[in-house]
Amino acid sequence: MPLFLPHFNLQKHNTLAVPAVADWFVSITNDTELREALAWAGERSLPLLVLGGGSNLVLRDDFHGLVIHIRSQGKILAAENEQYVWLQVAAGENWHQLVEYTLAEGLFGLENLSLIPGSVGAAPIQNIGAYGVELCDVFAELSAMEIASGLSVTFTAESCHFGYRDSIFKNALNGKYIITQVTLKLSREPRLVLDYPALREELKAIPMDQLTPEKVSEAVIAIRRSKLPDPANMPNAGSFFKNPIVDGPEYQRLIAAYPDLVAYPQADGHFKLAAAWLIDRAGWRGRQLAGAAVHEYQALVLTNPQRLPGSAVLALAGHIVQSVEEQFGVTLEMEPRIYP
Ligand SMILES: Cc1cc2nc3c(=O)[nH]c(=O)nc-3n(C[C@H](O)[C@H](O)[C@H](O)COP(=O)(O)OP(=O)(O)OC[C@H]3O[C@@H](n4cnc5c(N)ncnc54)[C@H](O)[C@@H]3O)c2cc1C
Repeated sequence: MPLFLPHFNLQKHNTLAVPAVADWFVSITNDTELREALAWAGERSLPLLVLGGGSNLVLRDDFHGLVIHIRSQGKILAAENEQYVWLQVAAGENWHQLVEYTLAEGLFGLENLSLIPGSVGAAPIQNIGAYGVELCDVFAELSAMEIASGLSVTFTAESCHFGYRDSIFKNALNGKYIITQVTLKLSREPRLVLDYPALREELKAIPMDQLTPEKVSEAVIAIRRSKLPDPANMPNAGSFFKNPIVDGPEYQRLIAAYPDLVAYPQADGHFKLAAAWLIDRAGWRGRQLAGAAVHEYQALVLTNPQRLPGSAVLALAGHIVQSVEEQFGVTLEMEPRIYP
């Protein structure tokens, strides 16, 4: 039976360093412990919060329930052929360490996703993405435990309904499954994705024939370190808002009013607006409100320098949403999950 800890401060378990307290906290390292934890919470009718690295959630308040911290470890070569390797990874593995491991093993596909904080098990929840690659590009399948029954189920890419920072686990199956393993389909041959302008710029000094996945990973790490605050020094949850997607007429209306609007055309005729540009233009970059702040260089990142309760960060986020809505008629959606 895993150890259930009462009155547990979650400050070290969320990258916003919010000092919320959980009534109960348990770390699990395998499926048996997870099943026991679910049964234990079920007997006491406790609400659950599944926690990986805590890098994509806001703890609005104390949590009156059981926090299940996923710490399972392990990587298994599930299948291989001449071109690909299917690597099955336990949900509690650290994402960036996995990226480093795959590069060292000569398995490619994760390099653009270097240095994203958090756990492997959380990666499918919002279909993590960066620098032109998303998890769904390398995803094969996942195993998840149904909370209600304790049964393990396999989800294919199709059944995960992946979208931009989205999956079925944020929608129809929200709070119903705990991901226990993720299988990735990795290439033995480098297939560099260099669509992202900032990445090409960072790599421009290297001749094309000398580019390797390792060099792409190094470039991604360098860009991220220069642009994003390290949560260890400045508490934050990465991008706080999704880039809003608008249709053609809406884009035409906006670009006519704001010729320097930053937007990216999508394959389906829609446009993805740079939320950072909207927030910056609404005058929020570098501002503080009751202790929570908008990062000085990256308007998409809200910081919590005073390690205040999550409600302070959410109050700032609410003001930003309102003012962007008023100025541009565009609704920003928060990226991190909010609890309770
Ligand atoms: C500095 C910084 C930079 C970031 N950059 C990026 C980026 O470039 N791209 C990007 O996509 N994201 C980015 N993020 C967000 C974050 O890193 C990812 O969303 C990551 O996948 C979250 O992992 P986690 O383990 O910390 O999840 P947590 O914050 O612990 O959990 C997030 C959500 O997933 C659920 N969850 C966690 N594990 C499981 C599981 N095993 N089963 C079921 N549900 C689970 C939680 O209940 C919660 O709802 C960034 C965050 C920070 C702080």
